[in-house]
Amino acid sequence: MKLPRGVQPDFPLGRLTTVRTGGTADWFARPTTEGELSELLAWAHEADLVLGTIGSGSNLLVADDGFRGLAIKLDGELAGIEREGERLVCGGGARLPSASAKAAGWGLAGIEFGVNIPGTAGGAVKMNANAYGGQLAEVLEWVDVATAAGSDRRRPEQLGFAYRSSNLGPGEVVAQVSFHLHPDDPASIKARLEEMRGKRREAQPSGIKTFGSTFKNPEDERAEGRSAGQLLEAAGCRGLRHGAARFSEKHANFVENTGEATTAEVLELMAEGRRRVHDRFGVVLEPEVQVLGEALWPEGWAL
Ligand SMILES: Cc1cc2nc3c(=O)[nH]c(=O)nc-3n(C[C@H](O)[C@H](O)[C@H](O)COP(=O)(O)OP(=O)(O)OC[C@H]3O[C@@H](n4cnc5c(N)ncnc54)[C@H](O)[C@@H]3O)c2cc1C
Repeated sequence: MKLPRGVQPDFPLGRLTTVRTGGTADWFARPTTEGELSELLAWAHEADLVLGTIGSGSNLLVADDGFRGLAIKLDGELAGIEREGERLVCGGGARLPSASAKAAGWGLAGIEFGVNIPGTAGGAVKMNANAYGGQLAEVLEWVDVATAAGSDRRRPEQLGFAYRSSNLGPGEVVAQVSFHLHPDDPASIKARLEEMRGKRREAQPSGIKTFGSTFKNPEDERAEGRSAGQLLEAAGCRGLRHGAARFSEKHANFVENTGEATTAEVLELMAEGRRRVHDRFGVVLEPEVQVLGEALWPEGWAL
């Protein structure tokens, strides 16, 4: 099968992530329509290539050795944001903060929580992203999922949502998302967005290269209700560094790339934080961040 138009070889992926580490994808493309997307999926299937979808790369670590497959980033129509009555229909590649801001301007409420989640609509569905008690599943109406076998529409109850996870597999691409919102006064919605931005500025570092939460908050009772960040902090990880990677001084569950960090340095630091929390509290932290490619977890990772 002929190489589809726009497919590029050896594409550096680090710059498509917010932490900016990692190597190249064997193949990369930016489909802009559902037609282009299905052509790429069919090509990857026929060429026996693994598929990796990149949203805003805001919870993503790319392996230093890169990704042996086809990486795609949705663009054009597949990143659009449209209003249909009380619905917001977004391409899977639409940025969530832009969707929240647009909805506010149109007097549609319910997706305010997205203002502080620097990911895409598709990435938010895959990760079941949430903030400040906003429930993605409450406003999500349907998603169109594209695979090499075709596209189908799924309801939230079919997506297997659990804490920061869904049942979507690597070959399944969220191409379109519909949010059913409710009318409200644009000024009140915008005031809520501003309040949420303010709260976030107080709690989290800004302007740094990071992928947000590194570990999930544990359900283990030995954590005694503490978050991953609180456990890491108590275990002395705030500001801890490995090479150019360090746990943020402001939020211990955020890893920061302070310069030219590698993914290996980030993984080493994660392993050290995880080991310290385990030694101190007996709690095993599990990563929230997703890895594209073969992650070389350091020896100390297994506890
Ligand atoms: C400063 C900061 C603050 C954050 N705050 C929050 C927060 O408050 N709440 C929260 O939940 N998260 C938060 N995050 C994490 C992150 O923004 C979310 O997990 C977000 O949903 C990831 O979306 P993304 O588009 O960046 O996905 P990526 O990071 O690009 O990818 C994450 C996963 O989703 C998959 N994926 C991406 N797009 C698609 C698609 N279209 N179809 C299928 N799979 C796809 C990827 O393959 C990968 O497995 C924060 C991150 C940062 C950097």
